[in-house]
Amino acid sequence: MMAAVCAARAGAAVTILEHMDRVGKKILSTGNGKCNYTNSKQGLSCYRGETPAFVLPILEQFSFKDTIRFFSELGIYPKNRNGYFYPASGQASSVLDVLRMELAKQKVHIVTDCIIHEVENTKKGFRIRTNKDVFAGDACIFACGLKAFPKSGSDGSAFPYIEGFGHTFIDVVPALVQLKAKQSFFKSIAGIRSDILVKIYENKDLICQDRGEVQITEYGISGIPVFQVSRFASKALHQGKQVAARLDFMPDLSPGELTDMLQSRFYRFGGGKDCEQAMIGLFSKKLIPLFLKECEISLHKPAEQITQGEIERLAGYIKNMPVDITGTKGFESAQVCAGGVDTKELHPKTLESKLVPGLFFAGEVIDIDGICGGYNLQWAWSSGYVAGTWAAAPQRNDI
Ligand SMILES: Cc1cc2nc3c(=O)[nH]c(=O)nc-3n(C[C@H](O)[C@H](O)[C@H](O)COP(=O)(O)OP(=O)(O)OC[C@H]3O[C@@H](n4cnc5c(N)ncnc54)[C@H](O)[C@@H]3O)c2cc1C
Repeated sequence: MMAAVCAARAGAAVTILEHMDRVGKKILSTGNGKCNYTNSKQGLSCYRGETPAFVLPILEQFSFKDTIRFFSELGIYPKNRNGYFYPASGQASSVLDVLRMELAKQKVHIVTDCIIHEVENTKKGFRIRTNKDVFAGDACIFACGLKAFPKSGSDGSAFPYIEGFGHTFIDVVPALVQLKAKQSFFKSIAGIRSDILVKIYENKDLICQDRGEVQITEYGISGIPVFQVSRFASKALHQGKQVAARLDFMPDLSPGELTDMLQSRFYRFGGGKDCEQAMIGLFSKKLIPLFLKECEISLHKPAEQITQGEIERLAGYIKNMPVDITGTKGFESAQVCAGGVDTKELHPKTLESKLVPGLFFAGEVIDIDGICGGYNLQWAWSSGYVAGTWAAAPQRNDI
């Protein structure tokens, strides 16, 4: 939609071919229905892919500030929540509505329920055969997403046409997604939300970490910090590597400080309490029996009888709870995918294919994924602006 608006504003006659019954369905689900459409904190660390720096010339042409201006002009009053931007209406549908109104204003032709059968590059330009009609154009932009949240339309069905032009995909895996754990005890602690430092290990090497409110679920772990590390776990699992997480339930205390604190709870203030009771007030009631059982400490042992070795074991476990990661919740639950069209095959200024002149890419289909916080939509807007503007530019062949 962004690419179409920008190409039309640059003077091109534009047609969107959409296989769903309407365009932009995914936007409705973004930001829990509120659409976190950009973020004022921008930097290379917010974007991932084989070559994260690929985003720089694109964001230079259409920055976070351009996003705010673009949507303000369309009617979206920005609501800034600590740098995370939402429409003041609190409704993701507002973002979709203003885009659809602008598409209409720019006279973009939208063909929905359009099933593509063939995309050809002829001497006269592109020719796209569909169930509805045959469409022709001087330029063609793939803005088809990858495979995340396929019920919104991005299901990988356009991949064969992209590969047909000789393009290669960096392996596409779910990212910003929940992680599944092997340990059966998750069923007993499901529902807990806690400030946890999540570390991800690939074949025993620490590869990434993030901290924040983790949600413990029946199948494993969820929440923003889990989403932030998930693309690395997902990639490693895809490559057949062993993936483990370590959960730190007391990230503000060092192991020594936690040991001291537990000692004082058990020895100084534990009189008359058992081990389970001595931990009440420190952790969720569901967690306490798990911690004690996993450390082989009897729940009903008098608190002051706990040994120094047991306290150290307990502190070590609370700071470093081992979890075997067996998989992700898959494309169905993922907010985005990692992987996509190899950026080496694209002109970094225009997003035009180096292999097929006139062919462009925008959005998630390119091997760039953002962290949580409005970065994936910022990438969609920026790359849409660049691809649309350059696809419509008469001088593009001189670049
Ligand atoms: C639940 C959820 C919440 C999210 N929240 C946020 C958020 O708050 N902030 C943020 O920045 N990002 C968020 N994202 C990510 C963001 O929505 C995506 O990164 C973004 O929508 C990608 O845009 P895109 O245009 O590249 O692809 P998509 O939005 O996936 O659009 C691709 C379009 O192409 C169509 N298409 C695909 N294949 C074909 C085909 N063969 N023929 C015709 N049409 C086809 C699809 O139907 C779809 O309309 C969220 C995602 C999800 C799933």
